[in-house]
Amino acid sequence: MVRTIVKIENLVKRYGSLVALDHLNLEVKEGEILGLLGPNGSGKTTALNCLLALLKYDKGTITVFNKEMHPTSYALKREIGVVPQNIAVFEKMTVQENIDYFCGLYVTDKQRRRALTEEALTFAGLTEYRKMLPKKLSGGLLRRLNIACGIVHQPKLILMDEPTVAVDPQSRNRILEGILELNRKGSTIIYTSHYMEEVEQICTRIVIMDHGRSIASGTTEELKRMIRTAETIRIEGIALQESQLQHIRELPHVFEAEYDQSQCLLTVKCTSAEHNLVRLLNYLQEQQVAFHQVYSQLPTLNDVFLEITGKELRD
Ligand code: ADP
Ligand code: MG
Repeated sequence: MVRTIVKIENLVKRYGSLVALDHLNLEVKEGEILGLLGPNGSGKTTALNCLLALLKYDKGTITVFNKEMHPTSYALKREIGVVPQNIAVFEKMTVQENIDYFCGLYVTDKQRRRALTEEALTFAGLTEYRKMLPKKLSGGLLRRLNIACGIVHQPKLILMDEPTVAVDPQSRNRILEGILELNRKGSTIIYTSHYMEEVEQICTRIVIMDHGRSIASGTTEELKRMIRTAETIRIEGIALQESQLQHIRELPHVFEAEYDQSQCLLTVKCTSAEHNLVRLLNYLQEQQVAFHQVYSQLPTLNDVFLEITGKELRD
């Protein structure tokens, strides 16, 4: 049986009158890359800080490696690597000294510490920058240093809080590849993000959060099957009459058709993904309706979020 690495049950965290976590439940199994996906303010960082016992919470239980987590659970914390949302490195130490310092918090053996630091430098692609001070690094390299410091001791569980915010595409890809590599080497990973594409790209399972709650969870495919939308068709540069829009609403599988007259944009949502586009285009041809461009899109995680919450995941 696959081991449970993290279990959060009915976690409630309030900041004064604000309920940041509202009976959150979360289970992470060994070997997973669990994506915590949610808009800003949905409680992702708060959940990680509670998990690490860095924050007191009002209600609920948290176990890590089947043991209850407390502020003084040092043996448990030793097995966890943290990559915080806000970069936390020492300005007066070089890249290499920073990584070595963080390694030293967990590893006392000098030789092992040196080997691990070297591995982390290579892993993050920082070997040629090892002598630089953090303030000389670009945003992407600084993020990579932040990650190297968090994972240098090769922990069993890694928590990464939005590690790709404001990085260039090259560093971003390197970070995502790195996460997959850490996972292949045996680390279980909790990865928070508000970018659905990233979560979809690397996570084995996704928990969608909103207002401190888990509102849906599953693999990408499972989440997309939960919703009604199977295909969204957008047609730009189209002039439609009300009677034609009405007719489109009655086409098979169409459950929503909206026409934005000011933008000449038609959006049609369908339940089953077969032949919807052909049927719609045939109808438009029959009616001699002209248009500029057509897009057909399979459901995204944003559609999942939109159907469950009624709002967009993106700002
Ligand atoms: P996320 O990481 O998903 O963006 P956070 O966990 O940072 O969300 O925040 C969840 C909610 O708690 C937000 O409404 C945020 O404003 C609030 N919050 C976070 N930290 C504090 C704090 N130290 N004091 C008061 N409110 C906070
Ligand atoms: Mg956050």
